[in-house]
Amino acid sequence: EDGITVGELAEMIGQTPANVIKVLFMLGTMVTINSSLNDEQVELICLEYGYEVKKKVIVSEINFEDIEIIDDEADLVGRPPVVTIMGHVDHGKTTLLDYIRKSRVAEGEFGGITQHIGAYQVEVNGKKITFLDTPGHEAFTAMRARGAQLTDIVIIVVAADDGVMPQTKEAVDHALAAGVPIVVAINKIDKEGADPERIKGEMSELGLMPEEWGGDTVYCNISAKKGIGIQELLETLTVVAELADLKANPKRYAYGSVVEGRLDKGRGPVATLLVQNGTLRAGDPIVVGTAFGRVRQMLGDHGKELKEAGPSTPVEITGLNDVPVAGDKFMAFETEKMARHVGEERQKAKQEQDRGVSSAMSLDDLFNQI
Ligand code: GDP
Ligand code: MG
Repeated sequence: EDGITVGELAEMIGQTPANVIKVLFMLGTMVTINSSLNDEQVELICLEYGYEVKKKVIVSEINFEDIEIIDDEADLVGRPPVVTIMGHVDHGKTTLLDYIRKSRVAEGEFGGITQHIGAYQVEVNGKKITFLDTPGHEAFTAMRARGAQLTDIVIIVVAADDGVMPQTKEAVDHALAAGVPIVVAINKIDKEGADPERIKGEMSELGLMPEEWGGDTVYCNISAKKGIGIQELLETLTVVAELADLKANPKRYAYGSVVEGRLDKGRGPVATLLVQNGTLRAGDPIVVGTAFGRVRQMLGDHGKELKEAGPSTPVEITGLNDVPVAGDKFMAFETEKMARHVGEERQKAKQEQDRGVSSAMSLDDLFNQI
């Protein structure tokens, strides 16, 4: 077991190591500055110095998904919206994402090459928007099933020459269930037979009445292929985002979710993370799902090396000991030792949970056989 040391705890609670050693001595335990402390000892010291909140965080950090992060109002600043595009297959999601990405990258700026890391950020009239570039609503559903609420705004793409299809309905259901604002993009208006008014009628039946019909859903007519109406769509997103008044605290340790994880032959485990709160820095000790390590290399969506990344920024990092899964949560820690401790505890908890699940499943199998 290597938990937090006397020295580390003393630093965290703003006491001298000598004071911490003294308290433990009074309680009948002899320790040195390098001794590891168990949870109970940590709790006692924290109680002694009135660090109830801190103590709670230390003990519950293992389950950092459940920590309610309370930020000082004064530390909160506006953050860019995170947008997901959903809709029926072939209605133009990929074309739209590609068009937006390409049209926003200054020609030649990064050798014209933009790598796909599963998310990217663009700027519209000086305001940033983060797009999740994950394949459709399966990723969205998977992430929501894992408790990860990443998206602030959903764009539902409907092809004007096709209309509402099963996956359009599913997408609307998911977005409504998540309680996020919806913008409808009626795509392929360049095509013959395109009938935006018919689409509005069909979408209204799903509860998305257009503003111009007295409802409160914003519609944009676009052609992702020809680039028609995209600027208006992007401006609409900034307006919807402003109304949502999205805030985060760049001063805290970074916290967020995994967008993608993969194993790279040369670089080892690679993860695309979306920083949801705080600031992630190169070199930060970090726990991602049950993996841990230090942020070794951090790249932005343009493939440029970043030293730090604030709220709503997608980054690609290396330095983990394992490949995390989309929807996993991550959190940065003060010391590598703590990250390791939390990572190992989470690994253990997950193994136990997996065992529990598999034994429950075998019981089901047994009933099925009977
Ligand atoms: P996805 O399955 O939703 O990702 O759809 P895609 O982006 O792959 O698009 C499916 C097909 O529709 C492709 O052949 C696109 O070129 C075409 N497409 C997408 N947007 C438009 C558009 O605005 N106008 C026209 N004419 N074709 C489009
Ligand atoms: Mg696609």
